[in-house]
Amino acid sequence: MASAAPALSFTRITHPAPLPVEARGKVLADPGFGKHFSDHMVTIQWSEERGWHDAVVGPLQPLSLHPAASVLHYAQEIFEGLKAYRLTDGAMALFRPQANAARFNASARRLAMPELPEDLFVAACRELVAVDRDWFPSIEGGSLYLRPFMIATEAFLGVRPAKSYSFIVIASPAGNYFKSGAPAVSIWVSQYTRAAPGGTGAAKCGGNYAASLVPQAEAMAQGHDQTVFLDAAEHRWIEELGGMNLYFVFADGTLITPPLAGTILPGITRESLLTLAREEGLTVREEKYAIDQWRADAASGKLVETFACGTAAVVTPVGRVTDPVEGEFVIGSGGPGQLTQKLRQRLVAIQRGEAADTHGWVMRL
Ligand code: PMP
Repeated sequence: MASAAPALSFTRITHPAPLPVEARGKVLADPGFGKHFSDHMVTIQWSEERGWHDAVVGPLQPLSLHPAASVLHYAQEIFEGLKAYRLTDGAMALFRPQANAARFNASARRLAMPELPEDLFVAACRELVAVDRDWFPSIEGGSLYLRPFMIATEAFLGVRPAKSYSFIVIASPAGNYFKSGAPAVSIWVSQYTRAAPGGTGAAKCGGNYAASLVPQAEAMAQGHDQTVFLDAAEHRWIEELGGMNLYFVFADGTLITPPLAGTILPGITRESLLTLAREEGLTVREEKYAIDQWRADAASGKLVETFACGTAAVVTPVGRVTDPVEGEFVIGSGGPGQLTQKLRQRLVAIQRGEAADTHGWVMRL
Protein backbone atom coordinates (compact mmCIF):
# COMPACT_ATOMS: atom_id res chain seq x y z
CA MET A 1 0.00 0.00 0.00
CA ALA A 2 2.84 2.41 -0.78
CA SER A 3 1.60 5.88 -1.60
CA ALA A 4 3.72 8.39 -3.44
CA ALA A 5 2.41 11.47 -1.69
CA PRO A 6 3.54 14.87 -2.88
CA ALA A 7 5.59 16.89 -0.43
CA LEU A 8 3.11 18.45 1.95
CA SER A 9 3.46 21.74 3.72
CA PHE A 10 2.21 22.07 7.26
CA THR A 11 -0.50 24.47 8.33
CA ARG A 12 0.46 25.84 11.74
CA ILE A 13 -2.27 26.70 14.25
CA THR A 14 -0.67 27.90 17.43
CA HIS A 15 -2.01 26.72 20.74
CA PRO A 16 -4.61 29.13 22.06
CA ALA A 17 -3.96 28.49 25.77
CA PRO A 18 -0.54 27.11 26.59
CA LEU A 19 0.29 26.05 30.14
CA PRO A 20 1.39 29.05 32.25
CA VAL A 21 5.17 29.41 32.17
CA GLU A 22 5.51 28.76 35.89
CA ALA A 23 3.56 25.47 35.78
CA ARG A 24 5.52 24.36 32.74
CA GLY A 25 8.78 25.20 34.50
CA LYS A 26 7.86 22.80 37.31
CA VAL A 27 7.09 20.02 34.87
CA LEU A 28 10.33 20.57 32.96
CA ALA A 29 12.45 20.39 36.11
CA ASP A 30 11.18 16.88 36.84
CA PRO A 31 9.19 15.50 33.93
CA GLY A 32 9.40 11.76 34.65
CA PHE A 33 8.38 9.73 31.61
CA GLY A 34 5.24 9.87 29.48
CA LYS A 35 3.16 11.87 31.94
CA HIS A 36 3.24 15.36 30.46
CA PHE A 37 2.66 16.52 26.92
CA SER A 38 3.68 19.55 24.93
CA ASP A 39 1.19 22.12 23.59
CA HIS A 40 0.89 20.86 20.02
CA MET A 41 0.48 17.82 17.86
CA VAL A 42 0.98 17.09 14.20
CA THR A 43 -1.81 15.39 12.27
CA ILE A 44 -1.81 14.16 8.68
CA GLN A 45 -4.77 12.38 7.13
CA TRP A 46 -4.86 9.57 4.58
CA SER A 47 -7.72 8.44 2.41
CA GLU A 48 -7.90 6.17 -0.62
CA GLU A 49 -8.97 9.07 -2.81
CA ARG A 50 -6.46 11.67 -1.67
CA GLY A 51 -3.51 9.78 -0.22
CA TRP A 52 -1.73 11.82 2.47
CA HIS A 53 -3.25 15.26 2.91
CA ASP A 54 -4.11 17.99 5.43
CA ALA A 55 -0.80 18.22 7.34
CA VAL A 56 -1.49 20.37 10.38
CA VAL A 57 0.50 21.43 13.42
CA GLY A 58 -2.32 22.26 15.80
CA PRO A 59 -3.17 22.36 19.50
CA LEU A 60 -2.83 19.10 21.42
CA GLN A 61 -6.40 17.99 21.87
CA PRO A 62 -8.55 14.86 22.23
CA LEU A 63 -9.32 12.99 19.04
CA SER A 64 -12.81 12.63 17.74
CA LEU A 65 -13.37 9.08 16.49
CA HIS A 66 -16.42 7.17 15.34
CA PRO A 67 -17.04 4.30 17.80
CA ALA A 68 -16.77 1.88 14.86
CA ALA A 69 -13.29 3.15 13.89
CA SER A 70 -11.25 0.05 12.99
CA VAL A 71 -8.44 0.89 15.41
CA LEU A 72 -10.81 0.44 18.34
CA HIS A 73 -11.85 -3.07 17.28
CA TYR A 74 -9.06 -4.72 15.32
CA ALA A 75 -6.07 -2.77 16.66
CA GLN A 76 -4.88 -1.49 13.32
CA GLU A 77 -2.31 0.79 14.94
CA ILE A 78 1.45 1.29 14.73
CA PHE A 79 3.82 3.66 16.51
CA GLU A 80 7.40 4.82 16.92
CA GLY A 81 9.45 6.30 19.74
CA LEU A 82 12.40 8.67 19.33
CA LYS A 83 13.99 11.50 21.25
CA ALA A 84 15.06 15.03 20.51
CA TYR A 85 18.32 15.58 22.42
CA ARG A 86 20.10 18.76 23.47
CA LEU A 87 23.62 18.86 22.07
CA THR A 88 26.46 20.28 24.14
CA ASP A 89 26.47 23.43 21.98
CA GLY A 90 22.82 24.05 22.90
CA ALA A 91 21.29 22.96 19.58
CA MET A 92 18.62 20.27 19.45
CA ALA A 93 18.95 17.11 17.41
CA LEU A 94 17.16 13.91 16.50
CA PHE A 95 19.02 10.60 16.49
CA ARG A 96 18.59 8.57 13.27
CA PRO A 97 14.99 9.67 12.61
CA GLN A 98 15.11 8.16 9.12
CA ALA A 99 15.64 4.76 10.73
CA ASN A 100 12.43 5.27 12.73
CA ALA A 101 10.67 6.34 9.54
CA ALA A 102 11.82 3.19 7.74
CA ARG A 103 10.77 0.95 10.64
CA PHE A 104 7.41 2.75 10.78
CA ASN A 105 6.83 1.82 7.15
CA ALA A 106 7.87 -1.78 7.77
CA SER A 107 5.28 -1.87 10.56
CA ALA A 108 2.72 -0.24 8.21
CA ARG A 109 3.26 -2.98 5.61
CA ARG A 110 2.73 -5.72 8.20
CA LEU A 111 -0.47 -4.10 9.49
CA ALA A 112 -1.85 -3.43 5.98
CA MET A 113 -1.62 0.34 6.45
CA PRO A 114 -0.44 2.99 3.98
CA GLU A 115 3.24 3.89 4.06
CA LEU A 116 4.19 7.45 4.90
CA PRO A 117 7.00 9.00 2.83
CA GLU A 118 10.07 8.96 5.10
CA ASP A 119 10.72 12.65 4.51
CA LEU A 120 7.22 13.47 5.67
CA PHE A 121 7.69 11.42 8.86
CA VAL A 122 10.91 13.29 9.62
CA ALA A 123 9.42 16.67 8.66
CA ALA A 124 6.48 16.06 11.02
CA CYS A 125 8.88 15.35 13.91
CA ARG A 126 10.90 18.47 13.09
CA GLU A 127 7.78 20.64 12.91
CA LEU A 128 6.63 19.54 16.34
CA VAL A 129 10.01 20.10 17.97
CA ALA A 130 10.23 23.51 16.31
CA VAL A 131 6.87 24.68 17.65
CA ASP A 132 7.26 23.06 21.10
CA ARG A 133 10.94 23.69 21.76
CA ASP A 134 9.99 25.42 25.03
CA TRP A 135 8.92 21.99 26.29
CA PHE A 136 12.49 20.74 26.35
CA PRO A 137 13.27 19.63 29.95
CA SER A 138 15.55 21.82 32.02
CA ILE A 139 16.85 18.80 33.96
CA GLU A 140 20.30 17.66 32.85
CA GLY A 141 20.17 14.73 30.46
CA GLY A 142 16.48 15.30 29.70
CA SER A 143 15.00 14.91 26.25
CA LEU A 144 11.81 15.54 24.33
CA TYR A 145 10.33 12.12 23.56
CA LEU A 146 8.41 12.00 20.28
CA ARG A 147 5.62 9.51 19.71
CA PRO A 148 4.58 9.26 16.04
CA PHE A 149 1.70 6.85 15.47
CA MET A 150 -0.94 5.87 12.94
CA ILE A 151 -4.50 4.69 13.52
CA ALA A 152 -7.22 3.28 11.27
CA THR A 153 -10.12 5.75 11.44
CA GLU A 154 -12.67 4.29 9.04
CA ALA A 155 -16.04 3.48 10.65
CA PHE A 156 -16.54 -0.09 9.46
CA LEU A 157 -16.91 -3.34 11.37
CA GLY A 158 -15.85 -5.74 8.63
CA VAL A 159 -12.43 -7.28 9.12
CA ARG A 160 -10.31 -5.80 6.31
CA PRO A 161 -7.79 -2.96 6.03
CA ALA A 162 -9.44 0.40 6.71
CA LYS A 163 -9.78 3.01 4.01
CA SER A 164 -8.82 6.02 6.10
CA TYR A 165 -6.02 6.70 8.59
CA SER A 166 -4.59 9.45 10.77
CA PHE A 167 -0.88 9.90 11.34
CA ILE A 168 -0.20 11.86 14.52
CA VAL A 169 2.90 13.01 16.39
CA ILE A 170 2.82 14.07 20.03
CA ALA A 171 5.73 15.09 22.27
CA SER A 172 6.40 14.39 25.93
CA PRO A 173 9.24 15.87 28.00
CA ALA A 174 11.31 13.05 29.50
CA GLY A 175 13.63 13.08 32.48
CA ASN A 176 17.09 11.64 32.62
CA TYR A 177 16.44 7.94 32.66
CA PHE A 178 19.66 7.13 34.49
CA LYS A 179 22.03 9.99 35.06
CA SER A 180 25.42 8.35 35.19
CA GLY A 181 25.04 4.85 33.89
CA ALA A 182 22.11 2.64 34.61
CA PRO A 183 21.81 0.40 37.65
CA ALA A 184 21.62 -3.31 36.80
CA VAL A 185 18.12 -4.68 36.33
CA SER A 186 16.73 -8.02 37.38
CA ILE A 187 14.98 -10.08 34.72
CA TRP A 188 12.16 -12.61 34.95
CA VAL A 189 11.95 -15.37 32.32
CA SER A 190 8.41 -15.26 31.01
CA GLN A 191 6.34 -18.36 30.43
CA TYR A 192 4.27 -16.28 28.05
CA THR A 193 5.20 -15.82 24.41
CA ARG A 194 5.56 -12.36 22.89
CA ALA A 195 5.70 -13.27 19.22
CA ALA A 196 5.45 -16.32 17.00
CA PRO A 197 7.13 -16.94 13.63
CA GLY A 198 4.98 -15.28 10.96
CA GLY A 199 3.34 -13.02 13.57
CA THR A 200 3.83 -9.32 14.25
CA GLY A 201 6.88 -9.44 16.54
CA ALA A 202 9.02 -7.33 14.21
CA ALA A 203 6.35 -4.62 13.90
CA LYS A 204 5.85 -1.85 16.40
CA CYS A 205 2.12 -2.29 16.76
CA GLY A 206 0.06 -1.63 19.85
CA GLY A 207 -1.22 -5.21 20.05
CA ASN A 208 2.26 -6.55 20.83
CA TYR A 209 2.42 -4.27 23.86
CA ALA A 210 -1.09 -5.11 25.06
CA ALA A 211 -0.05 -8.76 25.06
CA SER A 212 3.09 -7.98 27.07
CA LEU A 213 1.28 -6.30 29.98
CA VAL A 214 0.39 -9.47 31.89
CA PRO A 215 3.92 -10.94 31.58
CA GLN A 216 5.41 -7.61 32.70
CA ALA A 217 2.99 -7.32 35.63
CA GLU A 218 3.90 -10.88 36.63
CA ALA A 219 7.61 -10.04 36.55
CA MET A 220 7.03 -7.04 38.77
CA ALA A 221 4.82 -9.01 41.15
CA GLN A 222 7.74 -11.44 41.52
CA GLY A 223 10.03 -8.53 42.38
CA HIS A 224 11.77 -8.17 39.03
CA ASP A 225 12.19 -5.17 36.74
CA GLN A 226 11.69 -6.65 33.30
CA THR A 227 10.56 -9.76 31.43
CA VAL A 228 12.68 -11.66 28.95
CA PHE A 229 10.74 -13.47 26.26
CA LEU A 230 11.83 -16.78 24.77
CA ASP A 231 10.90 -18.13 21.34
CA ALA A 232 7.40 -19.50 20.78
CA ALA A 233 8.30 -22.88 19.28
CA GLU A 234 10.90 -24.31 21.69
CA HIS A 235 10.74 -21.86 24.58
CA ARG A 236 14.49 -21.97 24.66
CA TRP A 237 15.98 -19.24 22.46
CA ILE A 238 16.31 -15.79 23.99
CA GLU A 239 14.46 -13.11 22.05
CA GLU A 240 14.20 -9.72 23.79
CA LEU A 241 12.70 -7.81 26.70
CA GLY A 242 9.27 -6.15 26.51
CA GLY A 243 10.83 -2.93 25.19
CA MET A 244 14.55 -3.55 24.73
CA ASN A 245 16.92 -5.77 22.74
CA LEU A 246 19.63 -7.85 24.40
CA TYR A 247 23.40 -8.25 24.04
CA PHE A 248 25.58 -10.94 25.63
CA VAL A 249 29.25 -10.16 26.33
CA PHE A 250 31.84 -12.96 26.62
CA ALA A 251 35.18 -13.00 28.39
CA ASP A 252 37.01 -13.37 25.06
CA GLY A 253 35.57 -10.05 23.86
CA THR A 254 32.86 -11.55 21.66
CA LEU A 255 29.33 -10.15 21.66
CA ILE A 256 26.19 -11.98 20.65
CA THR A 257 22.77 -10.48 19.97
CA PRO A 258 19.73 -12.47 18.82
CA PRO A 259 19.19 -12.29 15.04
CA LEU A 260 16.34 -10.38 13.39
CA ALA A 261 14.30 -13.34 12.28
CA GLY A 262 10.88 -11.69 12.35
CA THR A 263 9.95 -12.21 15.99
CA ILE A 264 11.92 -9.38 17.63
CA LEU A 265 11.84 -5.66 17.06
CA PRO A 266 14.76 -4.37 14.97
CA GLY A 267 15.95 -1.84 17.53
CA ILE A 268 17.76 1.24 16.31
CA THR A 269 19.92 1.24 19.44
CA ARG A 270 20.73 -2.44 18.79
CA GLU A 271 21.80 -1.60 15.25
CA SER A 272 23.87 1.43 16.33
CA LEU A 273 25.68 -0.67 18.93
CA LEU A 274 26.47 -3.36 16.35
CA THR A 275 28.36 -0.68 14.43
CA LEU A 276 30.06 0.87 17.46
CA ALA A 277 31.12 -2.48 18.93
CA ARG A 278 32.66 -3.54 15.63
CA GLU A 279 34.54 -0.25 15.50
CA GLU A 280 35.91 -1.07 18.94
CA GLY A 281 37.43 -4.16 17.36
CA LEU A 282 34.99 -6.53 19.03
CA THR A 283 33.57 -9.56 17.30
CA VAL A 284 29.79 -9.23 17.19
CA ARG A 285 27.60 -12.06 16.02
CA GLU A 286 23.87 -12.00 15.37
CA GLU A 287 23.21 -15.47 16.60
CA LYS A 288 20.64 -17.53 18.48
CA TYR A 289 21.50 -17.97 22.15
CA ALA A 290 19.69 -20.38 24.46
CA ILE A 291 18.53 -19.75 28.01
CA ASP A 292 20.26 -22.90 29.35
CA GLN A 293 23.50 -21.81 27.68
CA TRP A 294 23.13 -18.35 29.21
CA ARG A 295 22.89 -19.89 32.66
CA ALA A 296 25.83 -22.26 32.05
CA ASP A 297 28.05 -19.53 30.58
CA ALA A 298 27.27 -17.13 33.45
CA ALA A 299 28.21 -19.88 35.94
CA SER A 300 31.46 -20.82 34.17
CA GLY A 301 32.53 -17.21 33.73
CA LYS A 302 32.56 -17.52 29.93
CA LEU A 303 29.81 -14.90 29.85
CA VAL A 304 30.77 -11.76 31.76
CA GLU A 305 28.06 -9.20 30.97
CA THR A 306 24.58 -8.88 29.54
CA PHE A 307 22.88 -5.65 28.66
CA ALA A 308 19.58 -4.47 27.27
CA CYS A 309 19.33 -1.56 24.84
CA GLY A 310 16.67 0.78 23.51
CA THR A 311 15.82 4.43 23.00
CA ALA A 312 14.35 4.93 26.49
CA ALA A 313 17.26 3.81 28.68
CA VAL A 314 20.01 3.55 25.98
CA VAL A 315 22.02 0.71 27.56
CA THR A 316 20.98 -1.06 30.75
CA PRO A 317 23.00 -3.80 32.45
CA VAL A 318 21.23 -7.04 33.37
CA GLY A 319 22.39 -8.22 36.79
CA ARG A 320 20.23 -11.22 37.66
CA VAL A 321 17.97 -13.60 35.79
CA THR A 322 15.24 -15.68 37.41
CA ASP A 323 13.55 -18.60 35.76
CA PRO A 324 10.36 -19.74 37.52
CA VAL A 325 11.46 -23.38 37.15
CA GLU A 326 15.27 -23.35 37.24
CA GLY A 327 15.75 -20.50 39.72
CA GLU A 328 18.09 -17.51 39.70
CA PHE A 329 21.53 -16.89 38.25
CA VAL A 330 23.78 -13.86 38.52
CA ILE A 331 25.72 -12.31 35.64
CA GLY A 332 29.30 -11.24 36.33
CA SER A 333 29.38 -9.18 39.51
CA GLY A 334 25.64 -8.56 39.28
CA GLY A 335 26.38 -4.89 38.60
CA PRO A 336 27.21 -2.85 35.48
CA GLY A 337 30.05 -4.41 33.48
CA GLN A 338 32.94 -2.56 31.86
CA LEU A 339 32.01 -3.07 28.24
CA THR A 340 28.38 -2.23 28.92
CA GLN A 341 29.46 1.10 30.37
CA LYS A 342 31.93 1.80 27.60
CA LEU A 343 29.42 1.20 24.81
CA ARG A 344 26.83 3.24 26.64
CA GLN A 345 29.24 6.15 26.99
CA ARG A 346 30.22 5.98 23.32
CA LEU A 347 26.62 6.08 22.14
CA VAL A 348 25.55 8.80 24.57
CA ALA A 349 28.56 10.93 23.57
CA ILE A 350 27.46 10.78 19.92
CA GLN A 351 23.83 11.49 20.79
CA ARG A 352 24.81 14.53 22.85
CA GLY A 353 27.27 15.87 20.29
CA GLU A 354 30.30 15.28 22.54
CA ALA A 355 31.89 12.82 20.11
CA ALA A 356 32.24 13.14 16.34
CA ASP A 357 29.19 11.92 14.44
CA THR A 358 31.11 9.88 11.88
CA HIS A 359 28.04 7.92 10.77
CA GLY A 360 25.69 10.83 10.06
CA TRP A 361 23.34 9.70 12.83
CA VAL A 362 22.68 13.10 14.40
CA MET A 363 20.18 15.36 12.65
CA ARG A 364 20.51 18.90 13.95
CA LEU A 365 17.26 20.81 14.18
N1 PMP B 1 12.25 -4.13 21.47
C1 PMP B 1 11.01 -3.66 21.69
C2 PMP B 1 9.89 -4.64 21.83
C3 PMP B 1 10.78 -2.28 21.80
O1 PMP B 1 9.56 -1.80 22.03
C4 PMP B 1 11.87 -1.39 21.66
C5 PMP B 1 11.66 0.10 21.79
N2 PMP B 1 11.31 0.66 20.55
C6 PMP B 1 13.15 -1.93 21.41
C7 PMP B 1 13.29 -3.29 21.32
C8 PMP B 1 14.33 -1.03 21.21
O2 PMP B 1 14.23 -0.33 20.00
P1 PMP B 1 14.94 1.08 19.80
O3 PMP B 1 16.38 0.87 20.08
O4 PMP B 1 14.67 1.44 18.38
O5 PMP B 1 14.32 2.00 20.77
